[in-house]
Amino acid sequence: MRKALVIGNWKMNGRLAANEALLNGLSSGAECLSDDVEVAVCPPSVYIAQAASLLQKSSIGVGAQNIATQASGAFTGEVSAEMLTDFGCEWVIAGHSERRSLYGESDQDVALKVAKAVESGIVPVICVGETLEEREAGQALARVRSQLEAALAQLEGDQLASIVVAYEPVWAIGTGLTATPDQAQEVHQVLRQALNECQVDLGDKVRILYGGSVNAANADSLFAQPDIDGGLIGGASLKVDDFLAICRAA
Ligand code: PGA
Repeated sequence: MRKALVIGNWKMNGRLAANEALLNGLSSGAECLSDDVEVAVCPPSVYIAQAASLLQKSSIGVGAQNIATQASGAFTGEVSAEMLTDFGCEWVIAGHSERRSLYGESDQDVALKVAKAVESGIVPVICVGETLEEREAGQALARVRSQLEAALAQLEGDQLASIVVAYEPVWAIGTGLTATPDQAQEVHQVLRQALNECQVDLGDKVRILYGGSVNAANADSLFAQPDIDGGLIGGASLKVDDFLAICRAA
């Protein structure tokens, strides 16, 4: 059985005071969440320590939004896996469409980040998703399959089960246009099948999250789909009540 998982992707949002209110709200709200759902938040890297400290007594974990592929050295602006683990990061988002489109991250960069995370004991949340043009051209399923296969290229054996996949259609991110539960389910099923083709039973073990304009109102119907194991939440993860409602729906 795969445990439901909800991860908040704060993106480049937050300030010390606002984070404190959000994290304290989540920490107390988490007491009422079921043990059947796992929850984490991924703040900007400078606030990881703040999040880890304020969530210390709660069941909510902390993750990062990016990871360097190198171990240490002359890589200005980068944050290494060891630095992340020093501050209790258990998760890292890899291959988010904003990193791919705005910062030129290639499938190969994503594969290296995924491998670095797994080697370091951090669970990579591997994002895949098609653009609107790709969907309209009937290429959505092929696109996400190829992104997933490329992201797993550096992993072998047991490492393959140490990942989470997130299907995030680019046209649904931050737009208010959510994929319908049927549209999302179709892609999730294909991704699960691709995992099973990669290694026997891998699809039964690996959680596949949906992301893209998930909110308190649409989370239930998305999470009711058999192959949707939870969500990667952007905008709605910045509001205590909305994020907790989404966690309860999972
Ligand atoms: P959104 O972002 O929920 O604001 O659409 C999701 C994401 O980009 O991870």
